[in-house]
Amino acid sequence: MTSEEIIKVLQEVEHPGNGDRNIVELGMLENVDVDGDKVTVSLVFPKHRDPLSEYLVGSCKATIIRHFPQAQVEVKTSIKEAPKKKPGLDLGLEELKNVRHLIGVASGKGGVGKSTVAVNLAVALAREGYRVGLADADVYGPSVPKMTGTEGAVPDAFNDPELGRDVIIPIEKYGVKWMSIGYFAKPEQALIWRGPMACNALKQMILQVRWGELDFLLIDMPPGTGDIHISLVHDIPFEGAVIVSTPQDVALADVEKGVNMFRNSSIDKKIFGLVENMAWFTPEELPQNRYYIFGKDGGARMAAKYNIPLLGQIPIVQSIREGGDNGEPVALSSRPDGIAFAALAAKLAEEADKAD
Ligand code: ADP
Repeated sequence: MTSEEIIKVLQEVEHPGNGDRNIVELGMLENVDVDGDKVTVSLVFPKHRDPLSEYLVGSCKATIIRHFPQAQVEVKTSIKEAPKKKPGLDLGLEELKNVRHLIGVASGKGGVGKSTVAVNLAVALAREGYRVGLADADVYGPSVPKMTGTEGAVPDAFNDPELGRDVIIPIEKYGVKWMSIGYFAKPEQALIWRGPMACNALKQMILQVRWGELDFLLIDMPPGTGDIHISLVHDIPFEGAVIVSTPQDVALADVEKGVNMFRNSSIDKKIFGLVENMAWFTPEELPQNRYYIFGKDGGARMAAKYNIPLLGQIPIVQSIREGGDNGEPVALSSRPDGIAFAALAAKLAEEADKAD
């Protein structure tokens, strides 16, 4: 039994999805190694998750054994993605190569304070001494410019001759590098971005930005768990995600969708933990008082259910909303609400270090 003989019999294995051409003529047979009775076949698939990959692996084994019953066959598979050529968007991962932790901040639904948490978390991490960037991927309602007081800023762009394309320089403030579609489009314009166009614009906000060396790059994901998210989590090499929720039962049900988006078998990313926002209400004048208006400990229960850490609990405090509205995140302050974000940042950094 020689490798030539194996290659010959493997010509009987046809790919039903490719006009019934066989795997040898399709160039899927990368290598054949024969060592005594041991036969190792390496197959290469042109795209992720070829639905027929399992079938083809089994078919290779069966064909070889039919011809050489004594053979002990192992079939290895790998993926060689054809370089993606999308009109107007030809971005690689070069700008992310010096980013240590690329983390999505996600929520199952809108309005739970995801952007507020993302912005304050970024500021709090920077205050801890980390190098931090945040990309606002909420193309439908970019809030980073307003929350950071950088509305009207226009990021510089230049052509990088080495990459042969334009790169965008993020806006720096509060020790964080910020990028948002809001710097390029008026809010009413952003609303009309749909489907693939929104998706491309959003990837540009991540992949075309000269982030430089960062300890943390947070991606403020669009709310929900739709097609855009699936495309994002496939194309951006996230290390994992932070899920933001309020303690309300309905919001907790949405958490499940958010967790599954990153945890499903084809993605399998780490969930760094859950942030319970609006965990209780504390009036400014009674900072010791806690009113659990959305229910108590819902976040802790949910974290336990999914076996993920509860990274932090953020109270509802008027100054958190005001900080968002006037462009000065409360994480800049050393008041109790600012400290809640400092504690959250420290916990996330601890979880991320574990992952290193
Ligand atoms: P999302 O990104 O989930 O849609 P936002 O971060 O835009 O939510 O928050 C929605 C609104 O709630 C904003 O006005 C924000 O200032 C306010 N908000 C969020 N979290 C808190 C909080 N912990 N305390 C007070 N107001 C908050």
